[in-house]
Order: sequence, then C-alpha cells, then structure tokens
Amino acid sequence: MYSRTQNDNGSYNTRCLYCFLTIASAVETEQELDRIEGNHVCPEKALSQLLAERSNVTAHALRN
Ligand SMILES: [Zn+2]
Repeated sequence: MYSRTQNDNGSYNTRCLYCFLTIASAVETEQELDRIEGNHVCPEKALSQLLAERSNVTAHALRN
C-alpha cells in the first residue's frame, strides 16, 4: 500500500503506508514509481507477517 502524490512540476512522490517512509520523491514516471515500490522491502510489513505467522503457530500448538 502506497500513497502517491504529485508535485507542481508533474513529478511524483510515493510513501509507504506501512512504515510511513517516503520511499521516492521527484520521480518522473509512474513506471518508475512501480519499480521503486516493488523494490521496497518494508520492515513494518515484514514484522506484521512475522507476528501473524507466530500467532498461527500458537493457535496450532493449542489445538494439539
Ligand atoms: Zn514500508
């Protein structure tokens, strides 16, 4: 999930909605935005996935 904004000169900024980092600013094209967003390894998203996995493991352990 990313929040894109456009500057007065037509270039773009994009911000990750998980970690609230601006991961690109003054990007010229939407293709470039797609590429940069695709390359963002989000620490917050990784953490939430890890926690979700852990709660699955806990739920599984409780069932046995
Ligand atoms: Zn992020």
